[in-house]
Amino acid sequence: MAKVKLTAVCKVCGSEIELPEDVMDGEITSCPTCGTRYIVRLKGEKVELEEFKGDVEDYGE
Ligand SMILES: [Zn+2]
Repeated sequence: MAKVKLTAVCKVCGSEIELPEDVMDGEITSCPTCGTRYIVRLKGEKVELEEFKGDVEDYGE
């Protein structure tokens, strides 16, 4: 299988955010440029970012 580089574009600053290939649906990532936090949503081969509002500590687990 070819390695697919997963990237998504920050909705705030437009920077490309690189995601690990083993990223999980629902994982929280943040933009390296502006620090906006996102929830990763995997849609087949596409990745969408959902703005994350709230505390990381309150999420999941
Ligand atoms: Zn950004």
